[in-house]
Amino acid sequence: MNWLTNFVRPKLRALVARKETPENLWLKCQKCEQMLFMRDWEANQEVCTHCGHHMRIRPLKRLPYLFDEGRYELHPLPRVTVDPLKFRHAKRYDAQLKEAQAKAQGTTDALVVSSGPMGGRIAIMALLDFGFMGGSMGTAVGEGLVMAADLAVARKAPLIAFSASGGARMQEGILSLMQLTRTTVAVRKVKEAGLPYIVVLTDPTTGGVSASFAMLGDVHIAEPDAIIGFAGPRVIQDTIRQELPAGFQRSEYLLEHGMVDAVVHRHKLRETLIGLTSLFMDPVVSDGRGLAVAVR
Ligand SMILES: [Zn+2]
Repeated sequence: MNWLTNFVRPKLRALVARKETPENLWLKCQKCEQMLFMRDWEANQEVCTHCGHHMRIRPLKRLPYLFDEGRYELHPLPRVTVDPLKFRHAKRYDAQLKEAQAKAQGTTDALVVSSGPMGGRIAIMALLDFGFMGGSMGTAVGEGLVMAADLAVARKAPLIAFSASGGARMQEGILSLMQLTRTTVAVRKVKEAGLPYIVVLTDPTTGGVSASFAMLGDVHIAEPDAIIGFAGPRVIQDTIRQELPAGFQRSEYLLEHGMVDAVVHRHKLRETLIGLTSLFMDPVVSDGRGLAVAVR
């Protein structure tokens, strides 16, 4: 204990610490393995600046690129009974959920519902979040999609769903499987109201989500090289005992085989969605307050 240890050493430490490189300044592309400068990659909507690989982007990062001037409103998910089965596997389900919520910083489950102007017309968007427990669909996600569909009908707006999911949330057992029918009915309500329902399939769209609302769109757009299917390729290969073709369950393969309508680069999504909704909806004019109104 002297002047050197008490005073000089902490000062030196602070000086060195300040010069340390932050850990999250660079990341590696999973496809081409090139190093990417985090800021460039984020500005590029999380698409690799070298090879164009579309990495999984979380809804709150994606939303500003979709709406006019990045203006949108978030709609909190309806409250649901948390952990009705008191499920426990490696961890308690309610603890797992709380952990995911803390990491998500603001969202409460694997779905984000938002509304805002897109090409001068109000659009309702429901985006699954793969970063939140694998985008799994439980009661909260089901309720959220029903809410999004009701919003679309009430506001006479198109519904756009972004899928990214490993499937149903097995921690909720049969209740998660019931969401397949609930979301199907929700989508039907939008269609019966004569409103467009567009799905953007992103990496990965599998399981119960691909067996329900993700495959019921009037139009299906896919991001490049996304895995889209029900069961994984290994399960299929083991069941049918046959070698699967190259590119099986990828966007481009599905486009070739008529399962999706278009494969669209993330940078072109907004203009594609605006183009599609204007084909389906009445033309819009400005009401002079910067808002658009539909012409009947
Ligand atoms: Zn790359």
